[in-house]
Amino acid sequence: MRYLHWFQNDLRLDDNPTLSSTLTADSLLCIYLLPKPRPWCNLVGLGAQRDRFLRESLQALREQLQSLGQDLMVLEGSPELVLPAVIERFKIDHLVTESIPGWHESQALNHLRNKLEIPVTTQPGNHLFQPAQFPFSLDEYPDTFSPFRRKVEVLAITPTLPAPEALPPPPAAQFDAIPKAAAAPHPGLPLPGGRAAGLRRLEQFLFQQHGIAEYKQTRNDLDGLSGSSTLSPWLANGNLSVREVAEAIFRYEREHVSNESTYWLYFELLWREFFHWRAVIDGRQLFRQGGRHDRRLLTTFEPRSFARWCAGDTDFPLVNALMRQLTATGWMSNRGRQIAASCLINELGLDWRYGAAFFEQQLIDYDVGSNYGNWQYLAGVGSDPRGGRHFNLEKQTAQHDPNGVFTQKWGGFRPPQPEHVLDGADWPITEPR
Ligand SMILES: Cc1cc2nc3c(=O)[nH]c(=O)nc-3n(C[C@H](O)[C@H](O)[C@H](O)COP(=O)(O)OP(=O)(O)OC[C@H]3O[C@@H](n4cnc5c(N)ncnc54)[C@H](O)[C@@H]3O)c2cc1C
Repeated sequence: MRYLHWFQNDLRLDDNPTLSSTLTADSLLCIYLLPKPRPWCNLVGLGAQRDRFLRESLQALREQLQSLGQDLMVLEGSPELVLPAVIERFKIDHLVTESIPGWHESQALNHLRNKLEIPVTTQPGNHLFQPAQFPFSLDEYPDTFSPFRRKVEVLAITPTLPAPEALPPPPAAQFDAIPKAAAAPHPGLPLPGGRAAGLRRLEQFLFQQHGIAEYKQTRNDLDGLSGSSTLSPWLANGNLSVREVAEAIFRYEREHVSNESTYWLYFELLWREFFHWRAVIDGRQLFRQGGRHDRRLLTTFEPRSFARWCAGDTDFPLVNALMRQLTATGWMSNRGRQIAASCLINELGLDWRYGAAFFEQQLIDYDVGSNYGNWQYLAGVGSDPRGGRHFNLEKQTAQHDPNGVFTQKWGGFRPPQPEHVLDGADWPITEPR
């Protein structure tokens, strides 16, 4: 049998059920297709940092595969067009890939299933549980987080799978070098792609710095690598498996201390899990303005406001600093994302989906369920029992950046816009000639 493993958000050999399902094949072709963000709001291509993190991760994965006599073919194009041609050319008998949520993603898979005459098998993606482990069916999946958490936090996690010691050989094919990214990691928040860097960060945050032991108090810090784990890029791209991160938390609790903070890090992994399965269930509704309850929202579309928000050029210094941090590094803290998103939704009155699309383009930890789920939550059309959040920007600044150190670091203090720039162009009234 000739297998094709289509890598998606599982850029690792360890605890990778999809890869492990190919071990009996006669030959194995490993492929990755570079993603295109949803084509909304004229956002073209991946942000420089997201592209960089991804390419570094692919290069690291390729080297790991090469050490086992394998290789990685990185191609561009949509799966519906590229994969059938590859399957034909290499006479593939079986396509395997991980299951990931997202409307376009599942549409692509359905299309392949209908078009291809070979089996297309999906294996569990990067999450803690399988639906069969839940004490409820997916039809009864909780609408909000707390009932979900109460029911699943007692469940045991299936042990992680070791990396294969050997892999089937690749077919005779040309494996081109992966072009290097144009950007480098930002010196103010260096987050390199690849599994080795993810493992280093896990070890550092838990066992060297013991940051996990006081995480509950520090998790709202605005800069990465200081208060929160900053593990999200490696989790989202699958350099790290979420179950191995959970195992590391439990090991820390056994070997060092088990307290509210150590629990809270696991609690956040449950949020990730919650949004993952919600995204699977919600399908297309995850991308509707009114969400799954089809709520009516009053928004305006003012391209100038959106452009200024993206560029970090609003009237709110903290929001500017956050947006500049995002485009410079590809990362933003959870509190930062809440503040920046609340500003777009409430102060600027824009459709939350434009903000979500910009995050999708820029974030090195972009994850469809967590991104769109959190945006819906803040816009009041998702899983928030209170129905939307409006963060008071002055209060948030006083609380999280009282001395303006963060805002200064990321260049948030902008000269105020002259009146005509703010208003004149927003209302293009032409003079009668
Ligand atoms: C508008 C908005 C968009 C977001 N988009 C994404 C996204 O695309 N990808 C992404 O991974 N997270 C997203 N988040 C969630 C959260 O902001 C990030 O996971 C977190 O900031 C990553 O930093 P960390 O690894 O230091 O997190 P920590 O605080 O150390 O948490 C540990 C891990 O738990 C998970 N986690 C933490 N908070 C959340 C949360 N609120 N929702 C889901 N998972 C969580 C992440 O995997 C994270 O790495 C978004 C949040 C908001 C408000």
